[in-house]
Amino acid sequence: MGDHVFVHAQGSGVAPVVKSAVEIELMRKAGQILAKTHAIVGQMVEPGVSLLELDAAAEHVIRSEGATPSFKGFHGFPGTICTALNSEVVHGIPDQRKLQAGDIITIDSGACWRCYHSDAARTYIVGGEATHPERAKFSKTMYAALMAGINKAHAGNRVGDISAAVQAVIDASPYSLVREYGGHGLGKDLHEEPYIANYGKAEAGILLKTGMVLAIEPIVAMGSPNTQVLGDKWTVVTLDGSDAGQWEHFGVVQEDHFEILC
Ligand code: MG
Repeated sequence: MGDHVFVHAQGSGVAPVVKSAVEIELMRKAGQILAKTHAIVGQMVEPGVSLLELDAAAEHVIRSEGATPSFKGFHGFPGTICTALNSEVVHGIPDQRKLQAGDIITIDSGACWRCYHSDAARTYIVGGEATHPERAKFSKTMYAALMAGINKAHAGNRVGDISAAVQAVIDASPYSLVREYGGHGLGKDLHEEPYIANYGKAEAGILLKTGMVLAIEPIVAMGSPNTQVLGDKWTVVTLDGSDAGQWEHFGVVQEDHFEILC
């Protein structure tokens, strides 16, 4: 499907749900399983490893923990992870390609534990940051944008405070926001309200309440933000061939901070 389902939650008009303590505990566990998955897969990110090997490892970790991959089969997506290699933006399908030193790769995944999802993405420079300092700087800027958004994701603020904080970091950088994609609430569904644009006005939008579970995910291009979807109907790439990627944490809105669950 070409409707960008992993990072583009369409606004449904349904009010965001505040999770119960029991639900948050289940999502905390889903986050722990995903964190373990990312840690193991991240250690495998080296020159010569294929995207399919990373995908198989992620699925093995998630299933061995008694969870299921949130992405696999979601609207027909074939992988446990979405890979975004170099000029790929989001929703890349893991395939036979092997990583090379200096590549930039985003790995996005989710684990479902007792009907509750987790969702997080990490970006790596293959072979280490020294192999490609420009890409390393790009990744750090995306992470800084994510953390700026997270610092605003506490009760009493509004969704627009997250959006504006993310945008401010990228606007001050040489990079550009890919505006078609954004963050979202999650729970029993991988995508719930509210949609969290990576740009917007502070003090606007839905009021954040303690117990809302959100995924925040700036999606950024090094060059022009224009994108296209490839013939596989999934893989989004930059039109100008510039690098792109994302960082994503999910967590729970608390009274005075955002508790990162993965
Ligand atoms: Mg997401």
